[in-house]
Amino acid sequence: MSHACPIRGCEREARDGHVMCFECWALVPKVLQATIWRLWREGRPAEGHREAVENAINQVNARVASKRSAPA
Ligand SMILES: [Zn+2]
Repeated sequence: MSHACPIRGCEREARDGHVMCFECWALVPKVLQATIWRLWREGRPAEGHREAVENAINQVNARVASKRSAPA
């Protein structure tokens, strides 16, 4: 099972249990990746997990946007 990657402009699939596709996940700051995994492993809807995920998505969207507008 998979779902669409939530990053703007990304048409790849994210695997079930993953927030986003591997290419986009690689753009998430390491500290935030660790936080999301830790909260995920705690199971159920862990406190703060949704916020951490939304934070990660926002950061990757911002990085992708700035990369697109930068000269090649
Ligand atoms: Zn993606």
